[in-house]
Amino acid sequence: MLKKLSILLFLFLLCGCSNVKEDVVTIIEEDDNHIASINYPITKSKKLNKYIKKYVFDIYDSFLACPSDNVRNELNIDFSYNKIDNFLIVVLFNNFNSTVKTFNYDLSKNKLINIDDILTNNDLSILDDLLDGYDYTVNNLEFSFDYKNLTVFLANQKFIIPLNKFDLQIDLHEVISKNEVFTYNEISREIDPNKKVVAFTFDDGPSKFTSRIVDLLKEYNSNATFFVLGNKVNIYEDSLKKLLINGNEIGNHSFNHKWLTHVSLDELLRQVNDTQDILFNTLGYTPTLFRPTYGSVNDTIRNNIGLKIVLWNIDTLDWKYKNSKRIASNSLSKIKDGDIILMHDTYEYTYNALKIMIPELIKNGFQLVTVSDLYEVIDIRKGLSNN
Ligand code: ZN
Repeated sequence: MLKKLSILLFLFLLCGCSNVKEDVVTIIEEDDNHIASINYPITKSKKLNKYIKKYVFDIYDSFLACPSDNVRNELNIDFSYNKIDNFLIVVLFNNFNSTVKTFNYDLSKNKLINIDDILTNNDLSILDDLLDGYDYTVNNLEFSFDYKNLTVFLANQKFIIPLNKFDLQIDLHEVISKNEVFTYNEISREIDPNKKVVAFTFDDGPSKFTSRIVDLLKEYNSNATFFVLGNKVNIYEDSLKKLLINGNEIGNHSFNHKWLTHVSLDELLRQVNDTQDILFNTLGYTPTLFRPTYGSVNDTIRNNIGLKIVLWNIDTLDWKYKNSKRIASNSLSKIKDGDIILMHDTYEYTYNALKIMIPELIKNGFQLVTVSDLYEVIDIRKGLSNN
């Protein structure tokens, strides 16, 4: 028995992958000299996670070491993460050195693979013909693949090549999952327009804390609005479904947290629409509200996104204080009827601050509602006062 256990333990250590929960790390920072949004995945493989983290923080360190010359430099690191059979495929994009870095990891062999691990010699010469004139080696070629295409990132370009051009060394078996449409019954909560209302809003999620915040809100018969990033929707699909089932609201906070007053109109629309699309395709849900990244808005954003822009009155500064008691006491003293409160569902101390704030606000007669419900209450009150 003991021997069996130790073999199992050995296998487990060898694999080093079974117990890691997939997640997305989001680091959002801003000060006078820089603005940064760093997003990277935690995959099933600890070994791969180390490679990713090292790559991301090397870029972050070089970015910080760069003199700012009185302009506010922006760093944006984003990713795509896919699982194709036994392979974990991570592509990291960044605006700092504008390179694309790919990690193709074979879980069955527990190692990173190169292009010659999936293409035969004959395939490699086909690829060579297609990439004629470009300088690369099989060891340094950045690529990713799915069930249909091989994508090569080379010389700031993206080459998408159908896999059926190749024989391939590997056998891929796509499992088509049943695409069930998610439906839920919307909860309608009784809101008394004559009583105080306040709307909690959470930016930059979802994260592993979102589901716990939803439970906490439910315990107090309360709701909130979550302004989510499109790139996290797939990984936190279940948390988002739970959020909706419990009567909460989802807003759009861009796809990967770019500084939207500093991008082209095309990029702005991509950031907004890709997030709308992924939410609709995953949850059948279409947000009507938008929270601009870093709270910066201009006319291009106002006139083009087709969503209602929501800012806030109370900034809890949770990301800065990093202490639940300080977050709670600082904001509780300011919150009044009709306020919109800014928080982030990406930190444990925010969750702990809410455990203090929510019961206190309820005790003081506040109703905790979504932003859309808060606007409705304000409209009702206006109607009442006009009559
Ligand atoms: Zn944000």
